[in-house]
Amino acid sequence: MEVLHLFAPRLSTHGNILPFFGPSLCTWRAPLKLGFFIGHARHSYLSNLIPRRKSSVFCSTNVEKEPSMDSDIQLANAKVIYSVAPAAGHNQESHPESNLRVPAIVDTLEKLELTPKHRRSEIIELKHFNPASVEDISSVHERAYVLGLEKAMDKASEQGILFIEGSGPTYATASTFRDSLLAAGAGLAVVDAVVAASKKSPEPPSGFALIRPPGHHAVPTGPMGFCVFGNIAVAARYAQRVHGLNRVFIIDFDVHHGNGTHDAFYEDPDIYFLSTHQEGSYPGTGKIHEVGSGQGEGTSLNLPLPGGSGDVAMRTVFDEVIVPSAQRFKPDIILVSAGYDGHVLDHLASLQLTTGTYYMLSAGIKQLAKELCGGRCVFFLEGGYNLKSLSYSVADTFRALLGDPSRASEFDNPAFLYEEPSNRIKQAIQKLKAIHSL
Ligand SMILES: [Zn+2]
Repeated sequence: MEVLHLFAPRLSTHGNILPFFGPSLCTWRAPLKLGFFIGHARHSYLSNLIPRRKSSVFCSTNVEKEPSMDSDIQLANAKVIYSVAPAAGHNQESHPESNLRVPAIVDTLEKLELTPKHRRSEIIELKHFNPASVEDISSVHERAYVLGLEKAMDKASEQGILFIEGSGPTYATASTFRDSLLAAGAGLAVVDAVVAASKKSPEPPSGFALIRPPGHHAVPTGPMGFCVFGNIAVAARYAQRVHGLNRVFIIDFDVHHGNGTHDAFYEDPDIYFLSTHQEGSYPGTGKIHEVGSGQGEGTSLNLPLPGGSGDVAMRTVFDEVIVPSAQRFKPDIILVSAGYDGHVLDHLASLQLTTGTYYMLSAGIKQLAKELCGGRCVFFLEGGYNLKSLSYSVADTFRALLGDPSRASEFDNPAFLYEEPSNRIKQAIQKLKAIHSL
């Protein structure tokens, strides 16, 4: 298969590219044939607040509501608002970042009764949102890359699949450009809805964009590490530009460093990027001393955790690092790069997070948003390649955001866990706290 060099990957700050995910780590299954509606908005329940973007509310009766002020009230009374962009056509055989991921989550949410059908007005699915525009994407990525990818779609149509990253396994199919715009747009629609709800309620719903391809490795100059457009970075710029939410706090708990988001905002004092990741994992960036530069010095926080770090480590990190950093920064909105590949059952890395860890993080982040920024908080799906642990962990995130008790104990098996390297974890956290004066 041909490799199309859309760009030369540039790890601007550091590090070597470490060996990437092995093909043996995933199991091929026949791709699902999914019809996904790429639609133009027919209703605009947010039209009085946000003229640009339109989506519609999917209710428990499966009937789309007509646009009205009631929709704002409906939004404000919900506890979770989510959107779904599964990118059915963006798929490569045997690739861990497959088109089975989002449907697996959606099926599990349905099975565990965490959908509008079962929870009525507590959970809202946004439908028929617009794709992000080239302008939206170009707020983070070089226009030449965005337009180059669009052009490459003809070639992808001819050949079936292209590799679009110089040295990594990031692929494109004929629908990748469209799917990637839709993924980013699904994130923007949730941001719009959460912001609109926060104007009506002191406790607005939390948002979750169930989207792919993921985004946090995509650098300003191009795609990287399964990621095409930086969905969360695009949403951060959008929150500033469209909603006037200038101070954005991004928490990235994916097992890998979110180097793309990191690079986009490394010199930006208004966007705080906090990443926990496994030390030495792909792509080798995100060293503890990288704290931002220029005006952005102090607003990047990178915490590499030793392999084997698990629930105990992450609870300490949340209390001693995430909470005080956010309190000091005083954000207007919190965005979360929610990757679930740090789960003990996910074999792309070797942390020992559990379903319960993700519940704890999600509940804590929701509480933090309530205290600091009017409850405005949106999660964006990043990694997570074991379909089962991914799905159950997202479901427990939904429970945390709903205020339901966790059901992690039904899924987590303590027999899979071993002792965490507590001394090394403690040293890393102490070092980081000294660097950041926490
Ligand atoms: Zn990851």
